[in-house]
Amino acid sequence: MTDGGPVLTEQQKQYLEGFLAGVKNRGAGDASAASALTPAETKPSGPEAIHIEAQDRAVAAGGKLVPEELAKRAKHPFDMWDEMRANAAAKRFPKGTDVFLHKFHGLFYVAPNQDAFMRRVRLPGGLIAAAQLRGLGDVAETYGGGYAHVTSRLGVLEDTNDIGFAAVAVDGGGAVPAGVYFRMLLGGITGHGDFGRDSGVLLTPAEVVPAAAAVLRVFIAHGDRTDRKKARLKYLLDAWGLEKFMVEAEPALPFKWRRVPPEMCRPRGPIAKHGHVGVHPQRQAGLSYVGVAVPVGYLPVAQLRGLADIAARHGSGTLRLTVWQNLIVSDVPDGALAAVERELGALGLTSTPSHIRGALVACTGNMGCKFALSNTKTHALAIGDWLEARVALDQPLNIHLTGCPASCAQIHVGDIGLLATKVDRGDDEVEGYHVMVGGGAGAERAMARAIYHSVPADAVPAKLEAMLRAYLAHRHDGETFHAFVNRHAVDALVRLFDAAALEIAA
Ligand code: SF4
Repeated sequence: MTDGGPVLTEQQKQYLEGFLAGVKNRGAGDASAASALTPAETKPSGPEAIHIEAQDRAVAAGGKLVPEELAKRAKHPFDMWDEMRANAAAKRFPKGTDVFLHKFHGLFYVAPNQDAFMRRVRLPGGLIAAAQLRGLGDVAETYGGGYAHVTSRLGVLEDTNDIGFAAVAVDGGGAVPAGVYFRMLLGGITGHGDFGRDSGVLLTPAEVVPAAAAVLRVFIAHGDRTDRKKARLKYLLDAWGLEKFMVEAEPALPFKWRRVPPEMCRPRGPIAKHGHVGVHPQRQAGLSYVGVAVPVGYLPVAQLRGLADIAARHGSGTLRLTVWQNLIVSDVPDGALAAVERELGALGLTSTPSHIRGALVACTGNMGCKFALSNTKTHALAIGDWLEARVALDQPLNIHLTGCPASCAQIHVGDIGLLATKVDRGDDEVEGYHVMVGGGAGAERAMARAIYHSVPADAVPAKLEAMLRAYLAHRHDGETFHAFVNRHAVDALVRLFDAAALEIAA
C-alpha cells in the first residue's frame, strides 16, 4: 500500500483489463454475470485456480459464462456439505443451479420424473469388493428404493469416450522396443456423432496417467465455458485440430509424446460382444471368472447381497462391473463353478442368458433421470421377453435403449439402438422410439443408421422381431447382424424388414 492507494501487480492489472474488456464487449445489460465473477484480489490459488483463470479468459475474450460456470465460481461445490445437510434435515430439495452443484457429490435431483435423488457411485475400473456391494445394498435399502442399477458408464470402449486408452502390442524392430503399450484416443462421444481420434502417440502403462492429466489440463484451460452443449473435448478438437491440441498438451507432460503411427501396432482382439458373460478360464490355472447377466442392470437388494455372498464364498471377494450392465465374479475355482451357477439361479440370475438378453442395455430412463422421454428399462425387458419367445439367434446381439440424445446407453454403437421420443397417437402422446441399426465399436466401429422413426413403444417388440426374422432369412452363412445390416442401404433394409412384418401378420 502507498499513500496513493493500492498498487496492483502486473498479473492483477492484466486480469482487470481483460475482465473490463469482457464486460464492455458483452454490453451493459449483464450486471448479474459480471457481479458474480470473483475479484482478482481474492482469486484462489488451489486446484480450482486453473478453472477461474479459464473463466476469466473466456470473459476477457467477450464470452458470457453459462449459469453453471457462474454457480461454480460463486460457491465452491465441495464446500456445500453443511448446506446439503440442512436441506436434508428440512426435507428440502435443491433449486436452480444448486441442482447442478449437488452433482459434484453424486446426487442427481431427478424432478419432474421423481421428487428424489439418483445417487451415482463411481467405481474405478468397475472393481468392487463384496463388502462394498453389500454396503451399497444396505444404503439402497435404508435410504433408497431398495435397488441399484449397474450403469453403462464405465470407460471401457476406448473409442467412445472423451479420453480412451487402447492396449496394443508392438513387435519392435523400429525406434520403439517390443512390448505392450497404449494408444490414446481423444474426443469420442457417440451421442454427438463422433468416435475417438487416434492421437498418434504410444504410451507405456506408466505414462497413461500423466498423459490423461495433460489432456485434462488443456481441456480445463481451453474448453468451452459459454455454451454447455459444446463443453466437451470433441468441440475443442474440432476447433483446434488434433495436432494443435497435442502440441499444447506436451508442456504439461514429464516426457515428450512418443509419436508412432497406428500401423506399427498390433491392435487388440475383437471386443467380446456380450462383455464376458459366461464362464471363462483365467490365466491362473484352475480359476475362472463368471460373467453374470443382469437384465437391464437392475439389482434389487436381495441380489446385491446374494452376489456379494457368492463372490466372498467362492471367489476372491471382488466383483467387476461391465459397460454392458453385467458383472463378473472372478477367481472362482473350477470345483465351485457348479455351485456358483446354482446360487445365481436361486437369486434369479444366470451366466448363460440368451443371445438376446446378454447385452440388452438400457439407460436409467424415467425411473431415475429427469431427461428421459420413456421408461427404457421396462421397455427393454418387454422387448427381451417378446423376442426370446419368438426368435432363436445363434450369436450374440446388442440392443441398446436410451431415454434422450445424451445416449448414456450408447445407442449409436449397438447392433440395434432405440432412442426415446414422444409419439402422437390420436389425441394422446405416448412413449416411443426411433430405431437405428448397425452401430459398433472397436473392430466393428460404425455409427448406427436410423431406419424407423417414432415407433410407439408397444409396437417396438414386433418391429424388432420382423427385423431379426428378415436378418435370419437373408443373411449369408454365419453372417452377424452387424455385417448384414451394414452391407445394405437403409431403403433395402426397410423393404426386407417390412416384408417380414407382413409375413408375420399373415
Ligand atoms: S440417456 Fe438421457 S435419459 Fe438416459 S440416463 Fe442418460 S441423460 Fe438420462
